[in-house]
Amino acid sequence: MEKKRIRRYSRREVRRNRMIAFFSLIVLAVLLIALIVWGVKSLLGGDNRESSSLSNTLFVSQSAGQDISSTPDISSSGVSLSGGESSLDSTAVSSVPNLSSTVPSEAASSTSSVGSGDLYYESSMPLLVNPDHLMPDDYAPTVVSVGGSYKLETKAASAWTDMQAAASNDGVSLWIISAYRTLERQTELYNEKVTEYKNLGYSEADAKVEAGKWVAIPGTSEHCLGYAADLCSLEENFENSDQFAWLQKHCAEYGFILRYPKDKVNTTKISYEPWHYRYVGSNHAKIIMSQGLCLEEYLEQYGA
Ligand SMILES: [Zn+2]
Repeated sequence: MEKKRIRRYSRREVRRNRMIAFFSLIVLAVLLIALIVWGVKSLLGGDNRESSSLSNTLFVSQSAGQDISSTPDISSSGVSLSGGESSLDSTAVSSVPNLSSTVPSEAASSTSSVGSGDLYYESSMPLLVNPDHLMPDDYAPTVVSVGGSYKLETKAASAWTDMQAAASNDGVSLWIISAYRTLERQTELYNEKVTEYKNLGYSEADAKVEAGKWVAIPGTSEHCLGYAADLCSLEENFENSDQFAWLQKHCAEYGFILRYPKDKVNTTKISYEPWHYRYVGSNHAKIIMSQGLCLEEYLEQYGA
């Protein structure tokens, strides 16, 4: 009797334990599948443009690393930064390869509240250069290559590379057609234009006026600051392109502004240039672009 009771009891217990084990396994399997799905999603999410700034930083430092290791003069989009900061980033990433897949999602959560534009915060006011404000004589920007023969000031170059990559992720192709110019080169271009008009029979004075409509008078061009880039096309109908629409929406995040807007010609004294973008820093750019100002108006309202 006693043996039977014990056996029946233990059989029931065994059955119960089996049930518990079975359901535990199911729960575990479901958890495992969820974990795998989440892992794959966050891996894919690493390419998401919204997760921007850190992954953009990684993009810059990685491409800089490639520039150094593979070919010294790469023509595409890599900025050949030589700063210690970027090489530090590269080593930090490569020393923890197992964690690299978690970096983008961390970046997404940590930067979404801060905003990707904060990488390009500039504490000082943008330098104004226009027909009434000549570039300081001793101005000598530190410029780096942004592909081909084009150069930009170091921070503007890094901002441009991030902006180009972000646009590309959105299926929009941006490229530079004019960037930094030395004052000598600007003078050369201007003098060539003056000669062109003189050859057409214009007086010296008139030729200079006409030339100034096409080529900025030496000392008045932002291109000599290393902060300006002409993008994609020098045609006014560039304003109808996908590229222009993307730039209108996003350029301020990377610290760039449309420098010579259509409705500000009287203030800038420069004709409408939908292709000319000026780096000023994201904090200034966001105000300028969202309030529809030109740089002259911004400095008048917010400048010291
Ligand atoms: Zn320009």
